[in-house]
Amino acid sequence: MSSDNDVEMRHRNVCEIIANAAQEAGRAANATALCAVSKTFPADAIEPVIALGQKIFGENRVQEAEGKWPDLKAGHADIELHLIGPLQTNKTRNAVALFDVIQTLDRPKLAQSLAKEMEKADRRLPCYIQINTGEEPQKAGISPREADDFVKACRDDYQLDIAGLMCIPPQNEEASPHFALLADIAARNGLTGLSMGMSADYPLAIEFGATIVRVGSAIFGPRTQTV
Ligand SMILES: *Cc1c(COP(=O)(O)O)cnc(C)c1O
Repeated sequence: MSSDNDVEMRHRNVCEIIANAAQEAGRAANATALCAVSKTFPADAIEPVIALGQKIFGENRVQEAEGKWPDLKAGHADIELHLIGPLQTNKTRNAVALFDVIQTLDRPKLAQSLAKEMEKADRRLPCYIQINTGEEPQKAGISPREADDFVKACRDDYQLDIAGLMCIPPQNEEASPHFALLADIAARNGLTGLSMGMSADYPLAIEFGATIVRVGSAIFGPRTQTV
């Protein structure tokens, strides 16, 4: 177990690295938001990070998030909770009720389901479209070739609020071509949001224009559970 002190140091360190990377890239110090990925960590590990002023958190499972975030959010009205893991359509209603941003819109059926549930709940959440930049068969996301059509369908057919694009580069590859590709697809579709970069590569992602990085272990420490 790491102490609150360790978490505070790690969080501060990540914030400094973000500001420095932005400065080196000639971007504003606050051009990139930090999404603190709290998956697998219990509420009492998350509380100290909320206490540091961290507002944006990411979880990758609806059910796990439902176990801890309703209470955490009740005490902190300005928290913004992002879904960063795959969403099954039978969980869409619950996801729309709990989360504030959906980062993993990855198929037409989910776009349709999100549109329906957001309408019903009268909660129009910003969504990021997940792009499978490496075209990996086992990974979720829209193929880069189909991205433009899908962005258009999400906007025109489903009237979704598309905030930007998200990617998870292949594990054993240089990430920069994937970050560059995501930025390219976003630019040609008039999208400004770029969710890219994790603990291992967020400074690089900022260099390539990330507007939000998803950082877990560099803040919370190593995860003992696999996800
Ligand atoms: C777990 C996870 C992260 C954070 O990973 P770290 O390497 O711990 O920073 C970021 N994005 C997604 C989609 C994740 O599932």
